[in-house]
Amino acid sequence: MSQRLARLRQKLATQGLDALLVSAPEGRRYLSGFTGSAGFLVIPTSGDSQVLATDFRYVEQGGAQAPAFRVQQITGGWDWAPKLFAELGVRKVGFEAANLTYDTYQQLVIAVAESPAKEQTSLVPTTGLVEPLRAVKDVEELAALQRAIDISDRAMDEVAPTIRPGETELAVAWRIEQRIRELGAESVSFELIVAAGPNGAMPHHRPSERPIAAGEPIVMDIGARAEGYCSDLTRTVCVGKMDATYKKVYDTVLAAQLTAIATMRPGMTGKEADALARVVIEQAGHADHFGHSLGHGVGLAVHEQPTVGPRSTQVLEEGMVFTVEPGIYLPGWGGVRIEDVVILDRDGARVLSHARKSDMLPGGRL
Ligand code: ZN
Ligand code: ZN
Repeated sequence: MSQRLARLRQKLATQGLDALLVSAPEGRRYLSGFTGSAGFLVIPTSGDSQVLATDFRYVEQGGAQAPAFRVQQITGGWDWAPKLFAELGVRKVGFEAANLTYDTYQQLVIAVAESPAKEQTSLVPTTGLVEPLRAVKDVEELAALQRAIDISDRAMDEVAPTIRPGETELAVAWRIEQRIRELGAESVSFELIVAAGPNGAMPHHRPSERPIAAGEPIVMDIGARAEGYCSDLTRTVCVGKMDATYKKVYDTVLAAQLTAIATMRPGMTGKEADALARVVIEQAGHADHFGHSLGHGVGLAVHEQPTVGPRSTQVLEEGMVFTVEPGIYLPGWGGVRIEDVVILDRDGARVLSHARKSDMLPGGRL
């Protein structure tokens, strides 16, 4: 925690800020350890007098979970903020523009304007201060991530072979969710996706009452949460005899994924890494059928930095953890997506998820 705060403070100093008001829940937890659902951090750039401001429900919990922070009890409204800024001697205070709603921001502005500190306090919109720090995982985070990943791997390996034609997508999704919880997860990390046949052409289809038919592709995108950290895993399977399209599409997606994993390196941009897989899919004639990014960071949020997509200029660094999930979607037929989580080591990507990918189903493949 103290290292995380130190890294943030360096960035605040380079931006000329006296303090940062942290309102995003993941950042709040990342920097303080506090897991409650409400509260703000005020982190001065110098010294170590950081404050966790939260309401009465969380005062005790905050004290226990965030020992590096002084816990201040607040009620509704923002009166406390300008008082605290004055007390801490901070004038130029950054806030997280991507997180604070316009309404909340206005309330904060009014509170400052009505306070004795109004002359010297300025509120500065900031973006991308905490999120890039969170992209590179430390040892503690990696242990939690691996736990979440192991749980979803196991749930997938256990449930996929049990799918039978005639079952609904919802039934399969529930079976996976149950297994994820039985294996010790706090929760699923997002609403699980089970998309069979034509539904699989929609990358974020919600499971439905539609019965699964033999021979069609079944896309399952699942995740578990452990100690706050999310996993994200996709496998595509087929029960019964697969058609010729399935085999071709599956092999193309798998080749794209394995190529990207084998050839990406730290120092590449998100765009360059994305292209490693995209070119394989384009060469197979499916340029128009891979409409999303190759991957995204995972951690306290299921989608976080880095962005690994065709427009990402972000440089991929050693220690970043993200998904590699190419897909091909054919309207009317269905889709194939294969997703694993990798960590970028000095010499390339190391795969953290180990759910099976082949020879799993009688007459089918995973
Ligand atoms: Zn996913
Ligand atoms: Zn994903």
